[in-house]
Amino acid sequence: MTEADDITEIRRAVQALCGEFPGEYWREKDRDRAYPGEFVDALTRAGFLAALIPEEFGGSGLKLDAAAVIMEEIQAAGCNGASAHAQMYIMNTLLRYGSAEQKAQYLPGIASGKLRLQAFGVSEPTSGTDTLSLRTVAVRDGDHYIVNGQKIWTSRAEHSDLMLLLARTTPRDQVKSKTEGLSIFLVDMREAKGKGLTIKPIRTMMNHSTTEVFFDDMRIPASSLIGEEGKGFRYILSGMNAERILIAAECIGDAKWFIRKATDYARERSVFARPIGQNQGVQFPIARCYAQMRAAELMVHRAAQVYDAGGNPGEEANMAKLLASEASWAAADMCVQTFGGFGFAEEYDVERKFREARLYTVAPISTNLILSYLAEHVLGLPRSY
Ligand SMILES: Cc1cc2nc3c(=O)[nH]c(=O)nc-3n(C[C@H](O)[C@H](O)[C@H](O)COP(=O)(O)OP(=O)(O)OC[C@H]3O[C@@H](n4cnc5c(N)ncnc54)[C@H](O)[C@@H]3O)c2cc1C
Repeated sequence: MTEADDITEIRRAVQALCGEFPGEYWREKDRDRAYPGEFVDALTRAGFLAALIPEEFGGSGLKLDAAAVIMEEIQAAGCNGASAHAQMYIMNTLLRYGSAEQKAQYLPGIASGKLRLQAFGVSEPTSGTDTLSLRTVAVRDGDHYIVNGQKIWTSRAEHSDLMLLLARTTPRDQVKSKTEGLSIFLVDMREAKGKGLTIKPIRTMMNHSTTEVFFDDMRIPASSLIGEEGKGFRYILSGMNAERILIAAECIGDAKWFIRKATDYARERSVFARPIGQNQGVQFPIARCYAQMRAAELMVHRAAQVYDAGGNPGEEANMAKLLASEASWAAADMCVQTFGGFGFAEEYDVERKFREARLYTVAPISTNLILSYLAEHVLGLPRSY
C-alpha cells in the first residue's frame, strides 16, 4: 500500500527539521535537564504543532492520521516530542467544548505559538489513576472561582502560558453519578503565578520538564470555565482518544529508531571476524521487534481513521497505545542488547532513548488500565475496580 503524497511530504518536512537537531543537541539537554526550547520553537514556526487547529483559527486543519505522522517522524529521528506534543492536542478540549469567544480569544494565539497551552493538570498525588477521587476544588465566588489543591506530574507547566485544569466543583457526595461534579478550566498561569499558583519541578529519569503544581486560594475568572460546570470529566475523556493515538504514533517512531539503530550496528559491528548481525541470535530479536512494530502501526492508523471519520475509537485508541508502547519498549530493550556494552554509553543515544521510551507503558495511561478498559468495555467482563 502506498502512502498519500501529502503524508509523504509531511514526513520529509519533519525529517528535514529534525535533521537540524542531532543527538548531540539532545544529549546536552538531557545532561542539564534543560527544556529543548529551540526545537519546540522550530516545530512551532513550521506550523507542525498547529496541525489539528482548524484553518479558520490559523492552524492547518489536518486530520489526526496526518498529525500522528508528525509525532512518529519526530521520534524516529531520535528527537523527543514529549517536549511539545501537548501543544498539539490539549487545545482539543477548548476546540470541542469552548465557547465561540474562548475559541476566538485563544486558538489563533495557540496556533501561532504566541500562546503555549501545553500543561494538563489531571493527576494528583493521592488519587493516582482513580481520577474521580481527585481532591482539587474550585469554589464559585461571584465572578471568580477559588482553587485549592495540588496536581502532580503536570508536565511542561514551566513552559506553558495556559493550563487545562480538572477540578471538583460539586462535592462527590452531592452528585448523582461520580463522573459528575468535575469541571474543566483554562487557567492563565501568567496571571496566577505567585498569586496562589506555585510550580515545583520534579527531576525524573529522563528529561521531561514535569512538575508539581500547588493551588492556594488561587482566584481565576469565572470565564475560565470550559463548557458546562460539572461536565469536565466527560470532556476530557473524549480528548483522551486523540492523545492516546498521538502518543502511540510516537511509540511507533521510537520503535523505528531503535530498530534502525540496531540493524545498522549489527551490520557494522564485527566480532569473531564477522558482523554480529550474521548470527541468528542477534538478527531474530531485531526481526521480531520489526514485526511487532508493524502490527502496532496498523492499529495506530486504524484508530486514527476511526477518529477522523467521526466514530468512537475507544477500543482502537486503547489497543493502539497498548501495542505501540509495548512494541517501542521491546525494541528499546532489544537495541541495548544488540549494542552490548556500547548501549550504555551516552554517545550512541541508545541509553537516552531507552530511558525516554520507558514512560509510555505507564503514562498517559498505564497498561493495566487499558487492559481493564478492554476487559470491561469491549469483552463485557465485570468491572475490576
Ligand atoms: C513523566 C510523567 C509525565 C506525566 N505527565 C502528566 C501530565 O502532564 N498531566 C497529568 O495529569 N498526568 C501526567 N502524568 C501522570 C500519569 O498519567 C500517571 O502517572 C499514570 O496515569 C499512572 O498513574 P499513577 O502514577 O498515579 O499510578 P497509580 O494509579 O498509583 O498506579 C500504580 C500502578 O498500579 C496499577 N494500578 C492501579 N490501579 C489498578 C487497578 N485497578 N488494576 C490494575 N492495576 C492498577 C497501575 O497500572 C500502575 O502500574 C505523568 C506521569 C509521568 C511519570
